[in-house]
Amino acid sequence: MKNYDFISYGKQSIDEEDIQAVIDTLRSPYLTQGPKIAEFERAVADYVGVKYAVAFSNGTAALHGACYAAGVGEGDEVITSPITFAASANCVRYVGGTVVFADIDEKTYNIDPNEVRKHITPKTKAIIPVDFTGQPADIDEMMSIANEHNLVVIEDGAHSLGATYKGRKVGQTAHMTMFSFHPVKPVTTAEGGMIVTNDEEYYKKLLRFRSHGIEKTEYAAEQGDWYYEMVDLGYNYRMTDLQAALGVSQLKKLDDFIEKRAQIAKQYDEAFSGHDGITTPYQLAGTQSGWHLYMVQLERANRKDVFEKMRAANVGVHVHYIPIYWHPYYEQLGYKRGLCPVAEAWYEKALTLPIHPALKQEEISYIIEQFNMVMKNNL
Ligand SMILES: *Cc1c(COP(=O)(O)O)cnc(C)c1O
Repeated sequence: MKNYDFISYGKQSIDEEDIQAVIDTLRSPYLTQGPKIAEFERAVADYVGVKYAVAFSNGTAALHGACYAAGVGEGDEVITSPITFAASANCVRYVGGTVVFADIDEKTYNIDPNEVRKHITPKTKAIIPVDFTGQPADIDEMMSIANEHNLVVIEDGAHSLGATYKGRKVGQTAHMTMFSFHPVKPVTTAEGGMIVTNDEEYYKKLLRFRSHGIEKTEYAAEQGDWYYEMVDLGYNYRMTDLQAALGVSQLKKLDDFIEKRAQIAKQYDEAFSGHDGITTPYQLAGTQSGWHLYMVQLERANRKDVFEKMRAANVGVHVHYIPIYWHPYYEQLGYKRGLCPVAEAWYEKALTLPIHPALKQEEISYIIEQFNMVMKNNL
């Protein structure tokens, strides 16, 4: 058996072209707030097929901006999934809102539209569905719930840039959609995030929020070219031109990256779908996942034992994610275990296998072989 270096569950793929793009920007007059930001925003907006895009310093800042633009504030409730990264819920807290967790659909691992309906109250202001693992959430359902109750839908597409739902790219349907460019995400800018939208009002608010709440208002224009007005309390959440240059270069490879991820997922599906102790990821009809994560359910095996044996073999298995309200911060806010029973039961059985575009065929074969071996002894 060959001894492998640690195979991580996800990582960036950076080539010489990406490196050159960043170096070129370092030699340009602009390191931040230069032409590369607008170029990257245009490139993502065109790729997704929407009118506007606003780049942020990271995806979490972008979600904060989206909650601000949606008008979420004190007393408002926002519904999201408990099986996601903490940022999907934290953004609601940043603006003083209350997070409401709706349970997941055990097949898709995404928020269950029926559970969302159950949690609507007169205080509900927005829904943050998450395209967990890269599989699009049922966004048409989310939009029809939103239309019935006059809610804003902020799609957390941190995992799903390039994924499609009923033939539409993720980002076309929700009021606002967030993408993250963290190194493990579909394409990277090191740190970085973006909101895409077709709504001009949201677009303007996002721009303002990203840059200290400052605007060139009509009044400012009358005063002279130096004049600007700070009209609301904003932040410095800007991306740099270095990051945007990397993003422009990375975006060209996105479809190729997704194809490689899908090819790995197919091999895993074929290798493991015959095991009755392993449930491979179900795909919602009409969706094409971006395959950010490949997650199985271990129906009978001891997850901790499987995890440790795989790690001992240098396979970087992982678990995404601990139900958000189990964390001490949310516990202290009064959320109790048992709130979303499907999500909690799902979490106990969940295991992430490595998937990313730079995985070599021999590594994929090794992972399959190791997992089969470990599972044989654990069923
Ligand atoms: C990565 C991630 C975020 C936050 O993005 P950052 O760019 O790391 O701030 C939000 N939601 C989900 C589901 C994520 O995976």
